[in-house]
Amino acid sequence: MGAPILDGTTLPDVAQWSDRVAVALGQNPSAFTGPGTNTYLVGTGPRRILLDPGQGVPEYLPVLERAMEQAGCEGFQEIVLTHGHPDHIGGVDSVLARFGPLRVSKLPWPDFDGATGSALTPLADGDVVGTEGATLRALHTPGHSPDHLCFVLEEERAMFSGDNVLGVGTTVIPAESGSLSDYLASLARMRGESPTCIYPAHGPKIEDGVAKIDEYVTHRRERESQILAVLAEGPRTVMEIVRVVYAAYPVKLHPAAAQSVTQHLRALEDAGRARSDAGDEPTWSLS
Ligand SMILES: [Zn+2]
Repeated sequence: MGAPILDGTTLPDVAQWSDRVAVALGQNPSAFTGPGTNTYLVGTGPRRILLDPGQGVPEYLPVLERAMEQAGCEGFQEIVLTHGHPDHIGGVDSVLARFGPLRVSKLPWPDFDGATGSALTPLADGDVVGTEGATLRALHTPGHSPDHLCFVLEEERAMFSGDNVLGVGTTVIPAESGSLSDYLASLARMRGESPTCIYPAHGPKIEDGVAKIDEYVTHRRERESQILAVLAEGPRTVMEIVRVVYAAYPVKLHPAAAQSVTQHLRALEDAGRARSDAGDEPTWSLS
């Protein structure tokens, strides 16, 4: 689960984005994953870290093998996951079946971790996973999902941003399990690392990490202003707000937009700036 993708961005199946970062495209393009999940081969040695093995589609394994060959990598040391959404954890079982038993680590999230039948090793904030040529430091950055980790690539002062910052589209904050206030705090924490570049889970490499994070924060502030402007005209349901604020977007993206609007309304409610009635489809108004 990533972002609604609007611009039809395509990426090559296999690419080398730095001396120590190669990428194999997950072969799972969709409205929510853009060109598909970026699966990263990290390090310089014969056995790399595989960061996010994608969704588990059969077309992926031959692409991964081609990426290994081009990167000069013979196998994997271990698998590391940014979070438990299906387009990130779904590929674990097939990669293990192909490449044998490997350690698979992530920050635990029992609701979603059952998607793999494999044992998971818990990762926590600040944990370091190293391999030849690369050192990854985990940053717990919840909001898009409660278990979300970004990873600082110490050798480049770069960051693997998972679904928190994307090369295309914007991050969805799911209505059920996401939290906009957590997400904004996570963006601030990511910015505090001053990443040179960002390797996102979807879309192309981001060359100026700090500028992109600032763009995301500005985007959320603008959305909040737009929602407040709609409510200033009178009480509205979430979908009524979506139809105004997202008028320029395809209708098929409106359900995802509704999740973001709901998150904004909850954050405004927490701040005492908006309230809702208790109906099946609640009506929101300014406090
Ligand atoms: Zn996700």
